[in-house]
Amino acid sequence: MARDRESTPSAQQPLRPAQERERAAPGKVTLTQRLAPVGGAPVQRKAALGDSAPRPPVKSAWAWTNDPWMDTAHRGTQPPGLGTAPVQAKRAAGTGPVVQREGEGTVSRGGGEHVVVRGDTLWDIAQATYGHGRYWTRIRDANRGRVFRGGHLIHPGVTLTLPAIEVPILDTMRRNEDDPEALRDFAGSISDADYQAFLGALDAEEREANAQFLQLVEMMRSSGMTMQELADEQRTFLEGEAARRGESIGTYIHGQIATHGYGGGSATWWPSLTPDEQADWEERFRRVQEAVRGAATDDVRQIIEQAEAAGGGFVWAPEDCERNGAFGFTRIDHRLYVGRRWVEAAEADPTSVFANIAHEMGGHNEYGEPLHGFAIMEQVVADLPEDERDEALSGGNSLFSTYGYMETEIFAELREHTYDRDDNPTDHPSDDVGHQLERIRDAFAPRVAEALVRGLWRRVQLDDRVPEPSKELFRTNAEAIFGITLT
Ligand SMILES: [Zn+2]
Repeated sequence: MARDRESTPSAQQPLRPAQERERAAPGKVTLTQRLAPVGGAPVQRKAALGDSAPRPPVKSAWAWTNDPWMDTAHRGTQPPGLGTAPVQAKRAAGTGPVVQREGEGTVSRGGGEHVVVRGDTLWDIAQATYGHGRYWTRIRDANRGRVFRGGHLIHPGVTLTLPAIEVPILDTMRRNEDDPEALRDFAGSISDADYQAFLGALDAEEREANAQFLQLVEMMRSSGMTMQELADEQRTFLEGEAARRGESIGTYIHGQIATHGYGGGSATWWPSLTPDEQADWEERFRRVQEAVRGAATDDVRQIIEQAEAAGGGFVWAPEDCERNGAFGFTRIDHRLYVGRRWVEAAEADPTSVFANIAHEMGGHNEYGEPLHGFAIMEQVVADLPEDERDEALSGGNSLFSTYGYMETEIFAELREHTYDRDDNPTDHPSDDVGHQLERIRDAFAPRVAEALVRGLWRRVQLDDRVPEPSKELFRTNAEAIFGITLT
């Protein structure tokens, strides 16, 4: 099935400078502070993280330079940062500490014994038993006479009692946010029944604040892998595909991006217009925008108002729309950039663009970042030797559009689904959801693709803005295309 570019935001990469993106990286600062031991360091924490230390995160700078959206035609048309601040504020809210109500969403841990071996620390025993080292004091308190120096000295051969503790699931996972292997292990150790009960106990506010995080956790839980391990799996897969064709991995990725990605088009119509003609189009945009507002139903008006409150709204961008073959698009900055065809469609019938508004202003922006498939591929490319990396990214199309776009597009299509009708000037969610799922299946190693889809399902399932029929649209397509069951 041919990809429909009508509603494609293409590689609408954020225009934020790289350092701003890094500053916005989830959890980095707050988590370190939260993890700082209170009242003195517990038993020597593993001196060096060694093998388990996460590799340095990908530096974003190079990754975006390949993206056509770095051609920032609009930079300067708005005060810098106007559209990005709310995104970051929202992200910060989503990654901050979350208070979990007592007695809900816990998992029972401990209750057994542990025979101390050389090298053990109470911190590590607590980590392995309860999912976090912070419970080491509970072991100390349960073993008076068997631990010394306040718990800092334990002797090999001694049997320690491990008290039974109700460990809060969400709180413990959040505390492990900076330790992917601990998060993977703890999340993976919870039974499906306990995990479903935990999810079922989350209220609307908790679901919204944790949706992105729980999506990531689902990827780890279902695959048993951290993001780095998923990236390693993906790299092995790509190396195998490249070898089958007798290509280097850089050449293979380059070819995938050239074939399946997009970006890098050119505009001819808009630059050919006279200044008077351009001014006339701008006036038509202004007028039709008011017509759309006037016709908007309450829920569509709410999407527009939320976008505007976040610093976004409608933006006249005929040249970018033409360059990208887009009906309308967003850069995940709460703005809906529109061009000629959007204005013509809205002039003919203002209600015909509601689907596009729900898709771009709503869906893509509500999904936000990170895009996990893109993050995995950024890591894969970052881990390549420099010449392979340069080769992979040397084309005009974007890595993002080849590996990241699908998940945000699926979410946007699900948001659009409610407003879809036969004369939709863009493509139809009932077709595109399946198409994008197939793209994920084909672009990633099987286990990575499944992790992405299971994570996405969790995200969709927990999002109250996605109505039940749209959730079903995702579930039935994903189950058929991947041959899996989603619960
Ligand atoms: Zn889209």
